[in-house]
Amino acid sequence: MKEKSQNNLMDKVISLCKRRGFIFPGSEIYGGLANSWDYGPLGVELKNNIKQMWWERFVHQRGDIVGIDAALIMNPKVWEASGHLKEFSDPLVECKVCHERFRADQKDIIVEHEEFHEKRKESAGWTEPKQFNLMFKTFIGPLQDEKSTAYFRPETAQAMFVNFKNVVDTTRQNLPFGIAQIGKAFRNEITTGNFIFRTKEFEQMEIEYFIEEKDWQNIFEMWRKEMLFWIKDLGVNLKKVHEREVPDGERAHYSKRTVDFDYEFPFGKEELYGLAYRTDFDLRNHEKASGVNLKYKDAKTGKEFWPHVIEPTWGVDRSLLIVLLEAYHEEGDRVVLKLPLRLAPYKVAVFPLLANKDKLVEKAKEIYKDLQKNFSVAWDDRGNIGKRYYSQDEIGTPWCITVDFESLENDTVTVRDRDTAKQERIKVAGLTTYFEDKLK
Ligand code: ATP
Repeated sequence: MKEKSQNNLMDKVISLCKRRGFIFPGSEIYGGLANSWDYGPLGVELKNNIKQMWWERFVHQRGDIVGIDAALIMNPKVWEASGHLKEFSDPLVECKVCHERFRADQKDIIVEHEEFHEKRKESAGWTEPKQFNLMFKTFIGPLQDEKSTAYFRPETAQAMFVNFKNVVDTTRQNLPFGIAQIGKAFRNEITTGNFIFRTKEFEQMEIEYFIEEKDWQNIFEMWRKEMLFWIKDLGVNLKKVHEREVPDGERAHYSKRTVDFDYEFPFGKEELYGLAYRTDFDLRNHEKASGVNLKYKDAKTGKEFWPHVIEPTWGVDRSLLIVLLEAYHEEGDRVVLKLPLRLAPYKVAVFPLLANKDKLVEKAKEIYKDLQKNFSVAWDDRGNIGKRYYSQDEIGTPWCITVDFESLENDTVTVRDRDTAKQERIKVAGLTTYFEDKLK
């Protein structure tokens, strides 16, 4: 059973997201659209910061990974060759009593539903499982027939395989090397829910890391560690993260080994990220289907072969959810979002002590404008200073600057720290360096 306090935590985070503009229900004025969510002004900043942190770490700070940004709708032949048209499905069952549909392999939800009917003295029964393809269909052009059918990509990965030759031909990458991409993926999931945990459109950060077959175990291990470091740097308590070897029969059709990183969400232990060994399945099949040579030629030996692939994959939305869950703290009647500094939507907030004293406002605006050159900065002149602190704590702003009468005399301000609530007096001229040092 889920702990009550844990469920509470989820409710509190959802409510904070709505109240402060992190995440809104999608199409809300029309009553929403089942499990679609829109990121608001603070949510988009947090999400961008997560994506930037990932890109810097895995693309900019390593010489062996380059990025791409591909189209969402690809030639349907891609999905034939990748096996998605045939294999990318979940078993669907329908409850014979209320006709609600579920994924047959989500045992907890199935049992919960059976119990629901049992309590009403109804005997639940299920239809035989049917395979339900998760790809979203659309049509290209004015005719809506089989020939014009296309699909929204269900994963970003295939774009890396399809562009493999382009990347090899235009960069100086030698094995092992990776292609990274961040972007949307679409899945017509049978059951969605738990806020942004499972939605029909979501974002992925993926790397296809091309290797020689003989190296697969070592490189799999390297990525396993990298993924754990990443989770730790999101401010997550690693005790809540569990690696799970995905057994035969449960793995995706292309995978020879998969390790899932599960996280203890308030609604249960569920997949956060995955790491898969895709062998040479994709390049081999795309070569067969397209007729284009997708082999890699070793410059030293002249040998040609299909590289094998290790694929670490991260959900952006699930990353954001765990960041919020881990950061949420209550201290007395204060809510503090202890976000990692790098991820905070605003790094600094600037307040004039009194909003009706022109000299204070002028000085505070000057500081605000100056800091904006280097940081994302909030401005607040409503209510009293205490309320403004509360308000910034709740959205995770690490530092608040107050411009007071002393500031006008000696060019210093108070800087108050989110986590310790301690205040320091700092020279205005030294503020940028002060924050830069802290953010390093
Ligand atoms: P699950 O078992 O939860 O359905 P999956 O194994 O199908 O996930 P992958 O195909 O490995 O997921 O996708 C890679 C990552 O994308 C997942 O680890 C997760 O972080 C994210 N992800 C997958 N499906 C969704 C979804 N419907 N909503 C939000 N994020 C998702």
